[in-house]
Amino acid sequence: MDRETFLGHLNRGLAGIERWESGWQAFAPDETLHVDPVRIDEVLDRLAERLTDNFPYFHPRYAGQMLKPPHPVAMLAYTMTMRINPNNHALDGGAATSYMEREVVARLAAMFGFEEPNLGHLTASGTIANLEALWIARGIHPDKAIAFSDQAHYTHGRVCEMLRVKPVVLATDADGRIDLAGLEAALATGEIGTVVATLGTTGMGALDPLDDIVRLAHAAGARVHVDAAYGGFFALLATGDAPLVNADRFGAIASADSIVVDPHKHGLQPYGCGAVLFRDPAVGTFYQHDSPYTYFTSDELHLGEISFECSRAGASAAALWATLECLPLERDRGFGPVLSRTRQAALAWADLIRASNRLRLVTEPELDIMTFFALPSRTDAPRASEISSLTATLFDRTMNDPDDPLYLATFTVNQRQLETVYPEIIWDQSTVSVLRSVVMKPEQLSVISEIHGTILRHLEEYGG
Ligand SMILES: *Cc1c(COP(=O)(O)O)cnc(C)c1O
Repeated sequence: MDRETFLGHLNRGLAGIERWESGWQAFAPDETLHVDPVRIDEVLDRLAERLTDNFPYFHPRYAGQMLKPPHPVAMLAYTMTMRINPNNHALDGGAATSYMEREVVARLAAMFGFEEPNLGHLTASGTIANLEALWIARGIHPDKAIAFSDQAHYTHGRVCEMLRVKPVVLATDADGRIDLAGLEAALATGEIGTVVATLGTTGMGALDPLDDIVRLAHAAGARVHVDAAYGGFFALLATGDAPLVNADRFGAIASADSIVVDPHKHGLQPYGCGAVLFRDPAVGTFYQHDSPYTYFTSDELHLGEISFECSRAGASAAALWATLECLPLERDRGFGPVLSRTRQAALAWADLIRASNRLRLVTEPELDIMTFFALPSRTDAPRASEISSLTATLFDRTMNDPDDPLYLATFTVNQRQLETVYPEIIWDQSTVSVLRSVVMKPEQLSVISEIHGTILRHLEEYGG
């Protein structure tokens, strides 16, 4: 959205807030708060200058980490609401935005097929949301362990440390998904209280086999927590006749006991917006020992009573609410088409990589995260160290291309993950550094062959 249009909308929105403010007697801001407008301009100019020390996250050629600006509607709604600065800790700190939070949480829960009543709220981040889910999990199984895979986000290990819960790390297969034989063996010990399944691992975007995990874990009396911080919104593409992502994985999500999804990742929101959802609202009792509520569906329930955090930005709820009013959580309009572009970009890129003789996929992308590596130009078996150094060279060269920089990321995989796809490798070191790219912007679909072409060009120019 261009600046003029954005400012036009913002002007209208702020005028609405001013109309509300003008219902109270006018007063002058205290003079201690006054700043010379010339000084403000100077500082903002310097800020603009300092902010140039960033990678161009907004641009389609930034295809590195999970980063992109929020939707303009989210920025408008956030800025308007920030003028009031409500606190969603309690209804008297922000009634309007607390009600919006309930509405958006209900929509997130419906996206996953959770039946009413359920329980959930927004959080500052996926980390806090996971902490809460596992805190409740420990409350339900106080003496049992929490199992998560070696590809799960590092937060799960840390949370176990904080909660003083025994962690059990599950092995993954070559595609980065929980190995079911290992899970069955772990469950058979009887020590696992909760299994964490990740839908969209942070590294490779892998989808754990949730259908099987739910079946095995529930049969063993264990809870299932789904960390869908990154991948959760892709549930929208797991429906219909020709689902763009694995429908079995997401189909079982409604049977999970808790789910984490980050609107600040694929939900077009500014940072500070995660969410945790519980299928059974009765877990609310774990939040407050002396709570007067035994069944957590009261319409007047303060969000602070079911949340680990106290103060939280009401503006986050408003931004997500406004975004979902404009872009609903549906497959065929709103969010679905946005996500399907990113998914199609990954599929198209995977086709290009498969067709090239210098690049290899580590694994087929299940969402919109690519992991791949380059081979040396000579045809005899490459060493692991050679592949790693080609990764470093390409990462560097593409980013420093003076004409048209391309920003990628790197990721470390081990022998087990790579030897099935590329048995020829000579393992002179135990891990290999590969290229990783997150194509989470819908604009990347139309430039994916150029992105691919840039990598090939650098590979040829460099020789290797
Ligand atoms: C990003 C991510 C997290 C951590 O969430 P933050 O919002 O960065 O705190 C946890 N799990 C997964 C799978 C993630 O992708």
